[in-house]
Amino acid sequence: MHQRLFLATFTAAAVLVNVACPKPRKTETPVKENVVKKVDPPKPKSAAETFLEECRATLAKAQGLLPQVKAADAPRTVEGTLLPYNQLLIHMRQSGARAGLIAEVHPDADVRDAARTCEQEVNQFGTALQLDRGLYDAIAAVDVTAADPATQRFVALTLRDFRNAGVDRDEATRTRLQQIDEEITKLGQEFAKALAEDVRAIEIDDVAKLAGMPQDWIDGHKPGADGKIRVTTDYPDYTPFMTYADDDALRRELYVANRSRGNSDKYKNAEVLQQVLALRAEKAMLLDKAHWADFITADKMMKSGKNAAEFIDRVHKLAKKRAEKDHAELLKQLKKHDKKAKVAQDWQRQWLEAQVKKDKYAVDSQRVRAYFPFAQVLQGLLDITSEIYDIQYVPVSDADAGSWHEDVQSFDVMRGATKLGRVHLDMHPRDGKYKHAAQFPINPGIAGVMSPEGALVCNFPKPGPDGPGLMEHDDVVTMFHEFGHLMHEILGGQTQAWLTQAGVATEWDFVEAPSQMFEEWAWSHETLSRFAKHHETGEVIPADLVAQMRKADKFGLGIQTVQQMFYAAISLGFHTADPEKLDMLAEVKRLQKKYTSFPYVEGTTFHTSFGHLMGYSAMYYTYMWSLVIAKDLLTPFEKKGLMNTEVTYAYRDKILAPGGSKDAAVLVKDFLGRDFSFKAFEAFLTK
Ligand SMILES: [Zn+2]
Repeated sequence: MHQRLFLATFTAAAVLVNVACPKPRKTETPVKENVVKKVDPPKPKSAAETFLEECRATLAKAQGLLPQVKAADAPRTVEGTLLPYNQLLIHMRQSGARAGLIAEVHPDADVRDAARTCEQEVNQFGTALQLDRGLYDAIAAVDVTAADPATQRFVALTLRDFRNAGVDRDEATRTRLQQIDEEITKLGQEFAKALAEDVRAIEIDDVAKLAGMPQDWIDGHKPGADGKIRVTTDYPDYTPFMTYADDDALRRELYVANRSRGNSDKYKNAEVLQQVLALRAEKAMLLDKAHWADFITADKMMKSGKNAAEFIDRVHKLAKKRAEKDHAELLKQLKKHDKKAKVAQDWQRQWLEAQVKKDKYAVDSQRVRAYFPFAQVLQGLLDITSEIYDIQYVPVSDADAGSWHEDVQSFDVMRGATKLGRVHLDMHPRDGKYKHAAQFPINPGIAGVMSPEGALVCNFPKPGPDGPGLMEHDDVVTMFHEFGHLMHEILGGQTQAWLTQAGVATEWDFVEAPSQMFEEWAWSHETLSRFAKHHETGEVIPADLVAQMRKADKFGLGIQTVQQMFYAAISLGFHTADPEKLDMLAEVKRLQKKYTSFPYVEGTTFHTSFGHLMGYSAMYYTYMWSLVIAKDLLTPFEKKGLMNTEVTYAYRDKILAPGGSKDAAVLVKDFLGRDFSFKAFEAFLTK
């Protein structure tokens, strides 16, 4: 379970947004008539200018609707006030979501910068909206007593979010809240930009030092003109290298390089983070909360920072024994190489785990990856989701899709003749691109207005002349995970009339449940056998190998779980501490010691490369919390299998399709026929 990120760019509670006065546009210099003929042809607009113009035009539509929403029209009505407000939110979200995506994926750095600029403007407008007392009063004045439940929920959530944002505070406080949000947006972008750009590499001068690496990987890493082989911190390099490279010193070097990203002469993420934490603490205080953790969890399933802390400790206790056993096993393995070893180190973890899996569980990950060439996995995934959700994927040409890079594959998602939405798959790494795996929403699905559109942004091996792009099984799991988000986005965007119900109001700490649940489809022979075929022989992955993989996967579960709780504790702890007294690095070291058995490695600054601290802030616990629910959601499949459409359709209709139209706990109850419980998760963790 590596960190996997879902960016809910706009939740109703944190609707990003911006002021009533759009930035001044560039005015064109009028050509004086008497200057005669010699007029230069207009300079063609750069891609960045064009992007910014289009993004601002969409935002301007939202801004243009504001006076209409607020205009007195007593008595206020759904048609006169709520509908234009909903339309305003749709335009705002469109401009912000597109900017948020393009800032992370566009091949042209100027366009990425333009997108960041537009994103800031959208956020500014959004913050101003939520602090706009006149707007709040207008919405509150709409009589919805006779309206349908969806409309009533829309108004209730909207007003709640306004109050949470501080709309009822005095003018000075609202002005400060606005400034704080604007500053946080800019600092968050700076933090993310550093992570996208700060790719480190180690240089290896002798191919013999690649001992242990798979041959296809070595073939794809020929020495450069200077005779050196470069191994970067990007996933397709990092994961295999940390798993297979026998050279301990090189693995350590790459580990330290990776865990100190965001911390260099050029990139100062520690300073940026410290400022963000101070601003968040100030905002929480202005809104009468003890700290940011309480503020951000109040409208989530978790409800408070204290509940989150208790949850982290509950899981940690459950996993501790298993983690200690795992760790002892790793040390035993290490002693086979070095009799005097006293402790297994974090940079040895993946390498040792792979060996234990091979020796003890007979799972050779090099053998496993031969069944997972990229194109085959993707096709398998499309086929499976087609079958279990009754959908079809129709390829869309680059020109029609308006995609940002030639690598992107776009599809319309259809059911029969009905178009449900559009998806874009941007699956391979490149310079300046987002380094993680995430689903980015683009358009919300609003019935009768627009169909949902989303993108997957991942970093999987690319098929090419040197090989078929063999994926680690871990990558395969990630691909299924991200598709879990994408299906939620598309299938949840079919019937919602109000923006806040198109998945936007889904509680943040529920969003990782559908994605983590769908990982199961990458672990079952029933589903794997459909596409996992040996890239040379075509042989279907053997059932006993999958059974062994599952068993082996349970090895290391203890370590993974406490590691996740370590990350969750950083995320929560940084947002409960007094930022002035917080020594971030000391806190990382302390929590690492408390939660994991791996010693801190000198030279690393994990917090400067922990991207979730921006998007998720205090809520990294979300992954484990959602996993608890995901394990429970799988229970109805146990008897009937993962491809049984009676169950998959029920899941689609009761969990995915309603989007955010009901509280997550209610959706889960609708599907399970009871409240969710810890039982399935406990069994998974302890058996
Ligand atoms: Zn996710």
